[in-house]
Amino acid sequence: MAQIFVSHSKRDQDLVGFFSSAFAGTKVKAVFEEFEKILTGEITSPKVMQDIENSNAVFVILSQNVQKIPHTRDWVVWETGIAKNKDIWVFEPYSQLDSISVVTPYLRHYVIFSMTEDWFGYIRNIIESYDDSHILPTVLTGAGIGAALAEEDKVGGAFLGGIGGAIAGHVLFGKSIERPRGWDIVCSNCRSSYNAHIPQEMVFRCPVCNTHLILKE
Ligand SMILES: [Zn+2]
Repeated sequence: MAQIFVSHSKRDQDLVGFFSSAFAGTKVKAVFEEFEKILTGEITSPKVMQDIENSNAVFVILSQNVQKIPHTRDWVVWETGIAKNKDIWVFEPYSQLDSISVVTPYLRHYVIFSMTEDWFGYIRNIIESYDDSHILPTVLTGAGIGAALAEEDKVGGAFLGGIGGAIAGHVLFGKSIERPRGWDIVCSNCRSSYNAHIPQEMVFRCPVCNTHLILKE
């Protein structure tokens, strides 16, 4: 089962509720983790690393409350550093935009959202795009094709088997949900590139360097 690691402040119960409803009924498991717990030692770094390792993506829910936690920047940088090879999604509530300056060096997606029905549907699409329950397991299929070809040509068979396995691994059963893409952004200040999910005419901060930006096509 696909899994998404969600880090948040324990003070943001409304935001947590919004996200957990978005996960409800999907085939993607959410692992919620409070930023505060690592500071108090309630959970250990190896446990967080393991949870992130087992996840397909990482959601970071930023807010004023996260901003206020001591050493938040270090913690966010540490956490996203571990998840560097995963899709990192940073979410910021639109209503708190001016009061957040936490920077995230590694991210793939930046989402400025509101707790509305539209955004609920959008976030659910993001979650469901990680649902892998309709994808064939790859190992057996690949081996099967390789073995069938090996009779005729052992060397070529193994090679073709590898390709067959790779293709079969992507055979989909049922329709997969397309991942929302947002806008492809390259920050004019720090040159970071990521996808921003924001209204077109909005001024927003670069989540990597904190410079104010506006979308230009
Ligand atoms: Zn930037």
